[in-house]
Amino acid sequence: MYYGYGSRMAYGYGMDPLYILVIIAGILCLWASYRVSSVYKKYARVRSMSGMTGAQAAMEILRRNGITDVVVQHVPGELTDHYDPRSKVVNLSDSVYGSNSVAAVGVAAHECGHVLQHHTGYLPLQIRTAIVPAANIGSKAGVPLIILGMFLSFSPLISIGIWVFSLAVAFQLVTLPVEFNASRRALVMLEEYGILGDDEVRDSRKVLSAAAMTYVASAASAVLQLLRLVLLNGRRRD
Ligand SMILES: [Zn+2]
Repeated sequence: MYYGYGSRMAYGYGMDPLYILVIIAGILCLWASYRVSSVYKKYARVRSMSGMTGAQAAMEILRRNGITDVVVQHVPGELTDHYDPRSKVVNLSDSVYGSNSVAAVGVAAHECGHVLQHHTGYLPLQIRTAIVPAANIGSKAGVPLIILGMFLSFSPLISIGIWVFSLAVAFQLVTLPVEFNASRRALVMLEEYGILGDDEVRDSRKVLSAAAMTYVASAASAVLQLLRLVLLNGRRRD
């Protein structure tokens, strides 16, 4: 049990009820990522009636919204699709860019949902972008600071570590409305612009919901880890 051993090494504590929840959240993360790839595979075999590829659907959505300064590009890999607001590029992966499946079109439209969030100054996206640097530091430095604080028996350092780690958790939480909103926008546009039919929108929703579950699982996991650190620290001081 690498996980338990590592954790006990790190925090110097044995099993606790919250630790079991952290493990459950970890399993949930694995299940969610397995599920998104299996749901994606299923609907990647369903060709859309319009025959539009992911790239064509993305370009159509951008055109309909009068967005002329964003380009759609092909990026290698699987499920590597993302919108880069700095370079204004919608990056679509191997199985999305040139595919005319309902899964591919759904993912492409979701990324365009992010473009529109950026374009309209959607607040949760602004918050998320603003805390990216802090969240990166938090996810790398949080736990090492806590371990160092425990090693040196220096409580302020442990508290700083917990605060720093909570920035990474905040990032995961603010990601949730951003992702749900992008999918909601995507499905509305696919229907409204006639890119997908009713049944196809329903299938596309299944793919996007499965993808959203991965964000829910990792946010839940991050919150539980933070809660555990806070409680362990409180117990340590008692
Ligand atoms: Zn997204």
